[in-house]
Amino acid sequence: MEHARRSDVRSSAQLIDDTPLAREIADLSARRRALEGVAIELPNRTRVLTVSNQKGGVGKTTSTVNVAAALASLGARVLVIDLDPQGNASTALGIPHDPDTPSVYDVLIDEFPLADIVQVSPESPNLLCAPSTLHLAGAEIELVSQVAREHRLRGALEDYLATSALPIHFVLIDCPPSLGLLTINAFTAANEVFIPIQCEYYALEGLTQLLGSVRMIQRHLNPSLQVSKILLTMYDGRTRLAQQVADEVRAHFPGEVLQTVIPRSVRVSEAPSFGQTVIAYDGQSAGAVAYREAAIEISKHVPAVTSNEDTNEEGTL
Ligand code: ATP
Ligand code: MG
Repeated sequence: MEHARRSDVRSSAQLIDDTPLAREIADLSARRRALEGVAIELPNRTRVLTVSNQKGGVGKTTSTVNVAAALASLGARVLVIDLDPQGNASTALGIPHDPDTPSVYDVLIDEFPLADIVQVSPESPNLLCAPSTLHLAGAEIELVSQVAREHRLRGALEDYLATSALPIHFVLIDCPPSLGLLTINAFTAANEVFIPIQCEYYALEGLTQLLGSVRMIQRHLNPSLQVSKILLTMYDGRTRLAQQVADEVRAHFPGEVLQTVIPRSVRVSEAPSFGQTVIAYDGQSAGAVAYREAAIEISKHVPAVTSNEDTNEEGTL
């Protein structure tokens, strides 16, 4: 009798161990352990990534600030340029950005040096931010009549990087969800396009347009621009749809999609309301672990050196 009861207990424990939730928890613990003590190789030249997708709400800002914070926690010096008038990246990095704050607007329109507006995030001395304010909404129109209107950010960034006392390893530019002059300035200033894609219906919608824009920029403004990496975000492992979308994106872009997918997570979405990235807010959560893994993958990418001739006119990556 006693023996039977003990084996009942054992089998129910085994059953619990074998649930999807138990497997997920065990997997997360193993991934956390794998991240302990990981070191990344810092690039010799500053890598400038523009985080772009013309579709709204796909995780551009969330990915910008969390990848930046993860890279900073791994020892890189990272500058986030908030190029979205909504200022969400500035908020998430705990950077004041009321209308009186010197911002990217002053850099683009009044030719302020970038060094005059860059602030250090309270999260890490390695994490810098060029904030945006609401004024930036007007810059889209004001830039139209300016000289070198597509190159303003590039010029300011080059001056900043050339005079910065300490090396900057990564610059991440958070773009608005449109192809106006702000996004064009980001494309012109960057070497790499980093594309977050939401694991939802119509995930690929707008991507053809984005790739077309990248080719146009390569031809006319910045031949060195490359699509470097694609990150699948807001992945919900319980739905078949998320898996299907992930498979479809991987089939289209086998070389570009990161292995890491970012899970849909409440911790990720609530962190900005505390003025924090999820790395600082709950560094052991599934979302933070995934963003740290994504940052490590990004750090391993070696950008190709390209010329105009390398540009593929057929429209495939
Ligand atoms: P926009 O085009 O307006 O700039 P965006 O592409 O920058 O949007 P985000 O602001 O990063 O997108 O994300 C859109 C919404 O989804 C936000 O409310 C954010 O908190 C939420 N979100 C992003 N990633 C996740 C995630 N992994 N889990 C849960 N919520 C998320
Ligand atoms: Mg955004």
